[in-house]
Amino acid sequence: MNQILVTGGAGYIGSHTCVVLAEAGYGVTILDNLCNSRAEVLARLQMLCPTKLEFIKGDIRDPVLLEQVFKARQYQAVIHFAGLKAVGESTVQPLAYYENNVCGTLALLKAMQHHGPKSIVFSSSATVYGDPHAVPIKEDFPTSATNPYGRTKLMIEEILADLHRADTGWSIARLRYFNPVGAHESGLIGEDPLGVPNNLMPYVAQVAAQRRPYLNVWGNDYDTPDGTGIRDYIHVLDLAKGHLSALRYLEQHSELITLNLGTGRGYSVLEMVAEFERACGLKIPCRMGPRRKGDIAQCFADPTRSWELLNWRATRGLAQMCKDAWHWQCSEKLRNE
Ligand code: NAD
Ligand code: UDP
Repeated sequence: MNQILVTGGAGYIGSHTCVVLAEAGYGVTILDNLCNSRAEVLARLQMLCPTKLEFIKGDIRDPVLLEQVFKARQYQAVIHFAGLKAVGESTVQPLAYYENNVCGTLALLKAMQHHGPKSIVFSSSATVYGDPHAVPIKEDFPTSATNPYGRTKLMIEEILADLHRADTGWSIARLRYFNPVGAHESGLIGEDPLGVPNNLMPYVAQVAAQRRPYLNVWGNDYDTPDGTGIRDYIHVLDLAKGHLSALRYLEQHSELITLNLGTGRGYSVLEMVAEFERACGLKIPCRMGPRRKGDIAQCFADPTRSWELLNWRATRGLAQMCKDAWHWQCSEKLRNE
């Protein structure tokens, strides 16, 4: 069985990708230090996977551990999710972000260069487009960053490009995610943010579950039809399948590819709230607030290249995203009672 090393596989996107990989017949080893995920997720994740998952608790910044990991087993590829991802926190603790994301990735790549495999799928982000001059966003649009988190993604993208320039034996996919939402339909895995959620959908779900009194809508004076910000929300399982497609492409091509993973459709904050209200049958109280610093009006993908190259496209609509997010929220509540 072809074995894949999934760094950050206990986290939100990683866990869903592990399910998709296991269902497709790959062996999966998770390497995660659990700094933003919980060990109990692993048992639930195992229930969704047809084959036994392997779990290594450890840090990608630990070169001794990495050497052991790559010597112990031959991996076909690495899917690299491990990293810190909170934009606000990155502005307060930039060094932690450069250390974890950039140094961590360097340690991982060095170990891969020594022991193989020379094949990696990397979690980048639409944040690398900064404030795009137009939508939909194509992969060849200029890149920029407005915060340390985004800069770590840009730096890692550059490091990967240099690596491929130096050695074309590497197979590298830089996947730029738009806004992952939703959860596995079982309710067993999903997004479990610690503290107050920064992102819209986990916050909306917590308002619906009466954990928070209302949603602050950050800005209703943007140049969009209803004045609120527009984003490209993509079901996390569609995103996970994009990784499988990228992996399969890299099996055939030692190339550097850079792809948007989005649906190509943008929805406003108020449209998302209305859809979530339909899914849960409850009213989501909203208060209009000021614009959030650093936010942009609109961001949605042109996913054409992913379709042409990988034959991948998102298939799940907004109703499914909200239904699965709500089911996950309710399942978590029951488990915590
Ligand atoms: P997550 O925090 O749920 O998962 C990341 C996992 O990596 C966690 O389980 C964490 O414990 C682990 N981790 C972090 N640092 C580590 C280290 N040094 N060593 C080992 N494990 C470590 O985040 P997610 O939402 O699943 O995001 C996964 C990746 O996708 C991240 O790189 C993130 O920047 C990127 N991304 C996420 C989004 C999003 O909206 N969720 C959007 C674009 C890009
Ligand atoms: N948003 C909001 N209230 C919140 C969180 C987010 O109005 O509590 C808005 C935000 O201004 C943006 C959209 O929802 O227009 C998506 O925000 P999110 O943080 O989820 O994604 P990102 O802005 O990073 O793409």
